[in-house]
Amino acid sequence: MATLYLGLGSNLGDRQRLLRQAVKNIERRIGSLISLSAFHETAPWGFSSPHPFLNAVVCVNTPLRPQEVLFITQDIERELGRTRKSTGTTYADRPIDIDLLFYDDMVLDTVYTDHDGVARRLTLPHPLMHKRRFVMEPLAEIAPDRIHPTLGKTCLELCRALEQEEAAQP
Ligand code: ADP
Ligand code: MG
Repeated sequence: MATLYLGLGSNLGDRQRLLRQAVKNIERRIGSLISLSAFHETAPWGFSSPHPFLNAVVCVNTPLRPQEVLFITQDIERELGRTRKSTGTTYADRPIDIDLLFYDDMVLDTVYTDHDGVARRLTLPHPLMHKRRFVMEPLAEIAPDRIHPTLGKTCLELCRALEQEEAAQP
């Protein structure tokens, strides 16, 4: 069994319902629920949109390997109505986004071919998580003392650093 943290976000449609449905699907298909953060409302990051996000982080125990988790989270995204994929650094509105944040302390950067023959990259821990308040705030809420395996800091420390960085900006 591995301890897995997933970041969830939605900024289109009935966001609360979509997040709850995502959590239900995750419990049913990925593993048993250990903890779930509150739903945090946040402004879009990396692109401009009139639609604010609702974000959460969920922790589960899973018997699955990381690539199996990635394929299932992408299935769940599709089932909950996500059609348009972000490309490169271009972000877009989405009914649901599910990102793998931590899988135990695994450090990984690899490419898998999914069921449709499409190459999918998987990087663990998630390469941008520590730069995103919308991930770090809900994560620090449920796992403040968890140490980021490559940065060597706790989630709470990383979250505080981000908040200070933002406060220092003009
Ligand atoms: P984003 O979440 O950055 O807005 P997408 O959800 O469209 O964008 O994901 C883009 C790609 O990121 C996916 O095709 C997936 O293969 C890749 N990816 C790499 N690492 C991860 C990770 N840790 N969790 C989720 N997706 C990842
Ligand atoms: Mg994603």
